[in-house]
Amino acid sequence: MTATAGRDPSGRKGSGAATARETGVRLAKAEPLNAVLHWSQELLEAEGARVDAMPVAGPLAAMPVALKDNIVTVEQPTTCASRILEGYVSPYNATVVERLRAAGALIAAKTNLDEFAMGSSTEHSAFGRTQHPEQPDLVPGGSSGGSAALVASGGADAALGSETGGSVRQPASFCGIVGIKPTYGRVSRYGLVAFGSSLDQIGMFGRDVRTAGRVLCAISGRDPNDATSADRPPLEFPEIPNDLLGFTIGVPKEYFPDDLDAGVRAACDRAIAHLRKAGAKIKQVSLPHTGLAIPTYYILAPAEASSNLARYDGVRYGPRYAPGEGDVQAMYRATRGVGFGPEVRRRIIVGTYVLSAGYYDAYYRKALRARWLIARDFDSVFAGGVDLLFTPSTPTTAFRAGDKLEDPVAMYLADVFSCPANLAWVTALSVPVGRSDGLPVGGQFIAPQFGEARMLQAASVLEALVDRAAEAR
Ligand code: GLN
Repeated sequence: MTATAGRDPSGRKGSGAATARETGVRLAKAEPLNAVLHWSQELLEAEGARVDAMPVAGPLAAMPVALKDNIVTVEQPTTCASRILEGYVSPYNATVVERLRAAGALIAAKTNLDEFAMGSSTEHSAFGRTQHPEQPDLVPGGSSGGSAALVASGGADAALGSETGGSVRQPASFCGIVGIKPTYGRVSRYGLVAFGSSLDQIGMFGRDVRTAGRVLCAISGRDPNDATSADRPPLEFPEIPNDLLGFTIGVPKEYFPDDLDAGVRAACDRAIAHLRKAGAKIKQVSLPHTGLAIPTYYILAPAEASSNLARYDGVRYGPRYAPGEGDVQAMYRATRGVGFGPEVRRRIIVGTYVLSAGYYDAYYRKALRARWLIARDFDSVFAGGVDLLFTPSTPTTAFRAGDKLEDPVAMYLADVFSCPANLAWVTALSVPVGRSDGLPVGGQFIAPQFGEARMLQAASVLEALVDRAAEAR
């Protein structure tokens, strides 16, 4: 490798120091979005100097990357947008933070989220909602809405988010950028605050497929600190073909229901026409258990969350809200009652209920069985000669703040097209495919486990065709 410290491979000039200055200006400009929970010019400058001192420029040289505030960092707080972790600073860095830095990236900021990543709009943050980057009265999606809005507005080149049921793809779709959910096990979860451990995976945002894909490559690979990380070498960004000859792309009918938003349908139909013109073979397929995904997810994710969140007790992390008198139970109750917001409390109550002795078989065990049926649907279409699936990322474009806040089930339905991939441990990506009434529409590719390379290829080809069609208009 040549010594081009401070340059990124795309040829953009700029040392770490220059990037640090520039990024500070960009972050200040993005302030009205409330996308960022912590950043400082001093830390940015220290990051820039560190990058400039690297003997060899890494693959992400001088790229400013923001982190969702549920990824732990030594130099900045990690709050999960919750009062219960206000002011908490981790004694170690997440593996992804170490890997981003080793690749030459600058850690730019920590971004806003739905409390503990529970939500689809970033309205469930204890520190105020994040605005949509184009229309302030709309939501950016969630739960990684801070990361998505920041990247879409130009505040950072890329950002990490986390996915339990769609929290990267859904906000990417709403904000008109690219979001990737890697295969379960592709990226280390060491230092990602746990929500639903059998579903959680760190994902990434970029304004194009290449940027998000390069970030994925830089942080992927086995980590001895995460027993669930897969024993695979780091991913390498694939060559992008000129066409899609040899690709068979399945279009599952369950993802195009009659009540699908007309503008979303039209943009996805145009995308399918592009894929066909590029040489892909388009095949109608069926994933018959898709309808079970939301109920299954909303049993398993809260069950795992209720167990994972038991550790926030006012003793080990963050502030203690003590009532002044009473025993340790009273202290737990007061701390958890004040520290957790309403959506987190709802999940803990649901999760505890479905795991309780009388209901375990009826709910939790049944949901585990349904999960396997959902996963088997994907196995059979992929075994039947389909390389990738193409679907809308979300059933609608970005909605208005407040619209779904009082109706948890309506909020949960924002994930109908995204949570099946988490339940099935596969990889998926959202890429902009056009607009409906002026708002971005995302198209989703879903690939088999560890099928990221072909997915990045197809998404890159489609992205170029969508851009060209937009220019021609
Ligand atoms: N919106 C979903 C939920 O509220 C997914 C969240 C996520 O992927 N972190 O659980």
